[in-house]
Amino acid sequence: MALIERFTGKRGEVGGLPISRALPVVGRRSVGAWCFMDHAGPATLAPGQGMRVGPHPHTGLQTFSWMIEGEILHRDSLGSAQVLRAGQVNLMTAGRGICHSEESLTERLQLAQLWIALPDSSRFGPPRFEHFATLPQLSLGGFAGTLLVGAHGDARSPVPSDTELLGMDLVCAAAAEAALPLAAHFEWGLMALEGELTLQLDDGETASLQPGELLYLAPGQTRLQLRSAAAARLLLLGGPPFPEPLLLWWNFVGRSPDEIRRFAADWNAGQGFGEVRGYDGERLLAPEVPPLRAP
Ligand code: MN
Repeated sequence: MALIERFTGKRGEVGGLPISRALPVVGRRSVGAWCFMDHAGPATLAPGQGMRVGPHPHTGLQTFSWMIEGEILHRDSLGSAQVLRAGQVNLMTAGRGICHSEESLTERLQLAQLWIALPDSSRFGPPRFEHFATLPQLSLGGFAGTLLVGAHGDARSPVPSDTELLGMDLVCAAAAEAALPLAAHFEWGLMALEGELTLQLDDGETASLQPGELLYLAPGQTRLQLRSAAAARLLLLGGPPFPEPLLLWWNFVGRSPDEIRRFAADWNAGQGFGEVRGYDGERLLAPEVPPLRAP
């Protein structure tokens, strides 16, 4: 049986920026607690055509923004106003409810927008916002790594998480190879952001990976070999399979259709999510909630 599953991501647009979405996709809704994975850009926006995402709510998740090129300004209902620059992470914990806006400050933009589902023990906790200006840098064979969340060897990311997680950005400027140890109780998702890579598992199974695809590895693997013949960049995300049912709709993560309908009604009624100050534009209303199936 093949141990590597391949999924085709979806292409779209968020706030004027082209995106490729690797999670959720048909057949794969989460990888550990990672439940949303957008690669936005790389793009050079025309002058005056910035990315603008007006105030919108979140529940039950953390948004994890990893900036690769350019700068964006984040504002939220806690009063945060934070510029996110290349090499930095914004972690916004929605808990029971938060709202925020995002706008670009540069014409050139590239980032990963990831969501982390919160477990029942913290999903109705207080909202909070944290900015991480520097992250541990790793040397992995011919790849330069950034430890986004979790631990690798003696290195530990300062980004906290409520469940066990690993997130790593790997980049090479020319042909490179690396062997990475994998925690056997984790499942894994790999997304190429640039270039083409080859993966090999210890049983000899190999797969190629190109931008726009998600490769999924079920738990049980202890080592992964990566190879690229030229410049490339990828994200490696992992965690133990998330044990609670997840229902994602619009910007909400919940457990049931009733919960999602209540989140949408509260937001549209202006209840429970606070207010973003300083953003010059309208807040985004939740569309009508379609019939949803319990997860
Ligand atoms: Mn958001």
